[in-house]
Amino acid sequence: MATQFPLKAFEHLRTPFYYYDLDLLRQSLDVLKNEARKHRVHVHYAVKANANPRILSHVQMAGFGADCVSGGEIRAAIQCGFSADKIVFAGVGKADWEINLALEHDIFCFNVESLPELEIINELAAQKSKKARVALRINPDVQADTHHYIRTGSKENKFGINLSDLESIVEAAQAMAHIDLVGIHFHIGSQITEMNNFAGLAARVNDIQERLLRMHWIPEHVNLGGGLGIDYHHPDEAAIPDFADYFATLRRMLKLRPEQTLHVEPGRSVVGQCGSLIARVLYVKDSSEKHFAILDAGMTELIRPALYQAYHKIEHISTANNADFQKYDVVGPICESSDCFGKEVELPLLKRGDLVAIRSAGAYGEIMSSNYNCRPNPAAYFSDDLQGYNQA
Ligand SMILES: *Cc1c(COP(=O)(O)O)cnc(C)c1O
Repeated sequence: MATQFPLKAFEHLRTPFYYYDLDLLRQSLDVLKNEARKHRVHVHYAVKANANPRILSHVQMAGFGADCVSGGEIRAAIQCGFSADKIVFAGVGKADWEINLALEHDIFCFNVESLPELEIINELAAQKSKKARVALRINPDVQADTHHYIRTGSKENKFGINLSDLESIVEAAQAMAHIDLVGIHFHIGSQITEMNNFAGLAARVNDIQERLLRMHWIPEHVNLGGGLGIDYHHPDEAAIPDFADYFATLRRMLKLRPEQTLHVEPGRSVVGQCGSLIARVLYVKDSSEKHFAILDAGMTELIRPALYQAYHKIEHISTANNADFQKYDVVGPICESSDCFGKEVELPLLKRGDLVAIRSAGAYGEIMSSNYNCRPNPAAYFSDDLQGYNQA
């Protein structure tokens, strides 16, 4: 389903802003829910992808759990109605107050990334006379074909417990009085579109389970994290990621006992395609070599191109039927050379005041916006609220 922009409504709104297609979000959630049920997968939505309360509440209403990486995210999830017994908490640097908050709420599971962290959780749980449910986040040392800044599952990354420490940390955890060791956890990176990468992870997990079995430990659950990518080049044709293929791959490759549950933590794949950043052209600057389209949105609203050289499809949405095209470097107003959304982007001729949509910005967009240059936070508008304005 293609996102239809309510252009008449947009004319009255101050740019830049985020626009969320809630019909698409609901459809994606429906597909995810059905496929998860079919393949018996427990879904914890990665809150860090988009914590806009309205988006969160749609995810919550679909019945999913939450994957949090900070105390603030745990609060946001609880406030939004997520049930604490479906909240998982990951992150290499959990502060004491964050651990305490999670303990107070009796969350489903801490995804623990090191021995020192495990010791502190044990101590803090003891102070509350509680047992913390823990999964060990293991760094599987597998390849993920994605940008190196969003690759997390090879041994040079800071994330997870090194495979060579596996047996010793399992033993340590089992010996701790206030730790209830319930699972193993993995997350190899983000924006992964090669199913082979997930198949490789599953194969590695099978080896790890063999090692654990030799220690006579069968984890209650196996959590394979997030990472399923979206098609940034085809936001309309590939609006809903292939959750069926993803789950089928995991189920086919992973050797689980009937009593073991399978968990995942998708973020980007759930919300990525439903959001667009809408901006206006402030100026078109022509030189002999280049044409710059200077927008009123920049890396402060959407940092992914500057941070990870990420591609986002850019569309000229206020044009009716302009047949003349031009190649533009589409840039923002921020005082950084990396503040560029795309180079040599072919678009129907632009002029001051035209609207541009930067697509597939629902994940790691609004949530990563900053106030650099003392810029205000971008507003967010939702298709449900602008429906009366839809163009014929
Ligand atoms: C970021 C993250 C996710 C979500 O990743 P996506 O690529 O958005 O699906 C899941 N789990 C953990 C531990 C993460 O850090």
